[in-house]
Amino acid sequence: MVYEFRCEQCSKSIDVEIPMSEYNSQKDKQLCPDCNSKLKRVIEWNGMAYRVGGYSEEAGAAKWQSQTIKK
Ligand SMILES: [Zn+2]
Repeated sequence: MVYEFRCEQCSKSIDVEIPMSEYNSQKDKQLCPDCNSKLKRVIEWNGMAYRVGGYSEEAGAAKWQSQTIKK
């Protein structure tokens, strides 16, 4: 699963891939790659964004991949 987080310090948004089973233990441990501040989970946006339009599924996936932090 890819979850979107936002940095509390610099407002950068980052997509982080976390296995669903590890989400609860990982969600509070995410740090901003830029300023090392704590990241806050952004509430479900993907389903909504698709419905609103302007995002094709392919463009969305490409965007996700480019922003996903590889462990
Ligand atoms: Zn930051």
